[in-house]
Formats: sequence, structure tokens, C-alpha cells
Amino acid sequence: MPELPEAQTIATDLDSKLKGQAIFQAKVFSSSVINKDSDLSLLLHKPILGVERKGKMILFCFASETYLLTSLRMTGQFLFGDFPQGMDPPCHVRLAFALKDAKGTDENSGGGALLYRDIRKFGRLYVRQGEDYVQLLNSFRQGTDALAITLDELMDKLKGSSKSIKSLLMDQYNLAGLGNIYATEILFSSGVNPIKPASSLKKEEFQSIYENMRSILSKAIEERGSTVDNYEAPFGKGNYQNFHRAYGKAKGLCPICHKPFSLVKEAGRSTVFCPNCQK
Ligand SMILES: [Zn+2]
Repeated sequence: MPELPEAQTIATDLDSKLKGQAIFQAKVFSSSVINKDSDLSLLLHKPILGVERKGKMILFCFASETYLLTSLRMTGQFLFGDFPQGMDPPCHVRLAFALKDAKGTDENSGGGALLYRDIRKFGRLYVRQGEDYVQLLNSFRQGTDALAITLDELMDKLKGSSKSIKSLLMDQYNLAGLGNIYATEILFSSGVNPIKPASSLKKEEFQSIYENMRSILSKAIEERGSTVDNYEAPFGKGNYQNFHRAYGKAKGLCPICHKPFSLVKEAGRSTVFCPNCQK
């Protein structure tokens, strides 16, 4: 599932190509990826004002207060390509939007298509207008964005909890954007054991987590995110997987002390950490 850097990369790629375009035709190959209260026809012929990130989700803003909010989950991807003719979709494409310049009148001007591909079909697309959009967004109960939160706010939210620091960092209600990859990397760089209760962390440990969160997320955005599993943004894959120091390295050695990493199952997720460096 895309975390903050991957979602940011996808949103930036989409924004650069889609701003000023409009959708003039939608073709659905698999209706299960569309939320049942969503009417795709609301998106047609309205200029796209921009595409941005909301936590780990992607938000398309159309004219007339119309929004397409998407949660890509495990294998959802947006790609640019040709609009499929007939009802035989390209591999795993569930939805296709034919594009045109929003100012142009010629619908055959060759604007290409935005394709939604999703191998496992766990992703969801929601169309809403005006107040209904605000209600939808609120229903996800997302906390402050991981790149917008202050150190004081982070401490206020987490320090009273006896839950593990890693599970709290990944809980979107506390702060939006982190998942297993970046929570693992941030805690490794901070020397904090992921299963430690947040209530037992010292102020210096919160400070270190906060600073590493900002620097790791910024560097990962620069590198277009981490390509693990099948992540790919519209303009290509990410490179930050080459900078991971702990995530996915359960069988390797800690790059700091050169002792073996440990793997624990915590809150349903595998967590790699160095018992020697992360206290
Ligand atoms: Zn170590």
C-alpha cells in the first residue's frame, strides 16, 4: 500500500499531467472498485483543477466542488495510456477515463486516457460533491499529516498511550501518512525499539522520531517513494527501496552494529529491528 512518499509522488505526477484536462468518457470494466454511492458521470466534462495527497489517499479536484477520492490499498495504480476500444480491458485495468483539454471542444484531440489498474481489486474510488465530500473525508478520521504535525502535537497525541510506538505511528487517526515501511525506518534511525510503549518514551526519543520522520519522508519523496511489491507511479517507479536500512532486511545484519536483525509480529505486522541498537 502506498505510504506518504508514494502517494505524494503519484499525486504530483497526476497533477502535472491532468491540470486543465477534463474527462469526456468513462469506461468501467470492474464496478467493484467504485464505491456504491458514487456517480462517475458527475466527473464528466468538468475541468480538473488539481490532484493532491490526503494522508495516503489521492484526491482529484474538479470544478463545481466535485471530487474523486481514491484509496489505492494493496495494488491500485494510475497509469496513462490509450483509451481501450471495445470491452476488452488491458491487463488488470478496471476503469478508463478518456481525457481532453478542458478548453478544447474536439473530443478526438488525442488527449489519451487515465487508466486505473488494480490486480487484487481492494482499491476504492469515491465521487462526491460539496458537503458530501467533506462528510466522506471526515469519515476516514485522519489525523494531522505526518509532514504537517509539530513535535508538541505528536507528543501530546502519543505520550499518554501504553500501546507500542510503532502501532501508534501507523494509526492514521493519530497522524496520516505512515505505514510499515516508513515507521520501521524511522524507529531504526531513532534507535527506539518498535514495541516500546509510547508512554515510556523520553522527550529526546520523541524529538529523534520527529526529526527522522521529516528527513526520511522528504528524502523518500525526492526518490519517488519505495518500489516494493508492485508500486509504480504514473511516470515510473521509486528508488527509495535502495536506501532502506531495516525494512525487508530481517535476514540481514544491522548496518550500525553488524549483529543480526530481529523480526517480531506486532499489531498484525512484521517488524524488523535491531535489539542491540533499538532500546
Ligand atoms: Zn544494531
